Amino acid sequence: LYILGIETSCDETAVAIVKNGTKIFSNVVASQIESHKRFGGVVPEIASRHHVEQMTIVLEEAFNQAELTWENIDAIAVTEGPGLVGALLVGVNTAKALAFAKQKPLIGVHHIAGHIYANRLENEFEFPLLALIVSGGHTELVLMREHGSYEVIGETRDDAAGEAYDKVARMLELPYPGGPHIDCLASQGEETISFPRAWLENDSYDFSFSGLKSAVINKVHNARQRGEHIEKVDIAASFQASVIDVLTKKTKRAADEYRVKQVIVAGGVAANKGLRASLEKQFSGTNISLLIPSIHLCTDNAAMIAAAGTIAYEQGKRSDLKLNANPSLLLR
Ligand code: ATP
Ligand code: MG
Ligand code: FE
Repeated sequence: LYILGIETSCDETAVAIVKNGTKIFSNVVASQIESHKRFGGVVPEIASRHHVEQMTIVLEEAFNQAELTWENIDAIAVTEGPGLVGALLVGVNTAKALAFAKQKPLIGVHHIAGHIYANRLENEFEFPLLALIVSGGHTELVLMREHGSYEVIGETRDDAAGEAYDKVARMLELPYPGGPHIDCLASQGEETISFPRAWLENDSYDFSFSGLKSAVINKVHNARQRGEHIEKVDIAASFQASVIDVLTKKTKRAADEYRVKQVIVAGGVAANKGLRASLEKQFSGTNISLLIPSIHLCTDNAAMIAAAGTIAYEQGKRSDLKLNANPSLLLR
């Protein structure tokens, strides 16, 4: 079963071909980071234009690398949301045109289901499982009792983890996207400042990062005003320690409460070395196995969309040519 995946929800134009939801035949990603860098963030209009320019090139490359043709493809899976509407539309319309022209089934996929299924490209799932999603736009704990079923048990009430990383990085004058730069600095510094941890209510699995973000920004701002020297590595280490502490402990508590067999981590922030180490420590020696994708599968790609689309296909889910981009699509 070969599924062609298409992903254009943000600033990566990506096409992939995956066999049986587990084996990658090609996974082509054209990143636009260089074009958005000078604006310090993704500019939606520029993103859409780049997707239009890149799509046919990336598509062709995906077939070339896989050494497959349209005859091999069983269905087309595409990210229908959430994301930037203009960016999503390029992927959705490409997928619809191809589904019509090549007479292939079409499957709309939730971007976060894709991030979750990135893990299945490397390890088989065992249910029930708990997914910690930490990306540029999402921070969520999702319980899965079976394939294709998603129960959101906690989510951020304000900023996503990746968003907080990028905003703090901006304050520290680091290049966009800031997450990897903070990660790198943090490994060279120490937690010299005790920044707040938002635990929220005792039984809550929700997150909040805006208070932490403001605390870090105020600290840096005040130090600059007073002309004091700021040790960027220690600011980064202290900020990262707070994020990781909350993510790790809430994930552990939920994993225990729901007696899951696996904890899987997904989204761009899953690339964070500090977070990976902290989770590994927390779950080592327990009977819960921890899965974290290789770095290139943590950030946006289309293999993960094809992987999630495969399950949907096997469960008989189909979209029709009325499929539309939905920037605020809910995971369920
Ligand atoms: P979403 O998936 O929620 O729609 P997105 O697709 O923009 O958002 P991803 O591509 O999954 O997000 O992840 C990008 C985010 O991951 C950015 O905020 C980036 O700073 C962050 N990130 C990447 N690498 C690291 C790292 N090593 N440490 C911390 N954050 C990181
Ligand atoms: Mg991205
Ligand atoms: Fe993403």
